[in-house]
Amino acid sequence: MSCIFCDIISGKSPAEIIYEDDKVVSFLDVKPIHFGHILVVPKGHYVDFLDIPEDNLLSLIHATRIVAGAIMKGLKPDGYNIFSNNGVAAGQSVFHFHMHITPRYFNDEIKFMLNLKNYKETEMKKFADRIRQEIQ
Ligand SMILES: [Zn+2]
Repeated sequence: MSCIFCDIISGKSPAEIIYEDDKVVSFLDVKPIHFGHILVVPKGHYVDFLDIPEDNLLSLIHATRIVAGAIMKGLKPDGYNIFSNNGVAAGQSVFHFHMHITPRYFNDEIKFMLNLKNYKETEMKKFADRIRQEIQ
């Protein structure tokens, strides 16, 4: 199974590397939302957020903060988004987990098209209970 991110990590494919440590690599997204849009990727091939071992996840979050800080200092955008797409329905296209960090600018016309819902009377508790019962 070929994976473009594994190819970048192994050096088979080129990338503009921004940050690297023993567990994480970070590089420019080749199709950026804004110039300076960066991906932060665990070196192990983990499919999604829930697949990543805890110690790798901590390294990934650590690296994400370093890179976000560098974007703010280096590019001086008005803000930034940090997000990840997990699963086809959520827009995941490379099935090797990655965190996106993209600079944002006032009036940049990028919007999530949200259709916010309203819970009916007891629905909120039902949803909370279904999720809470899985947390141990
Ligand atoms: Zn991979």
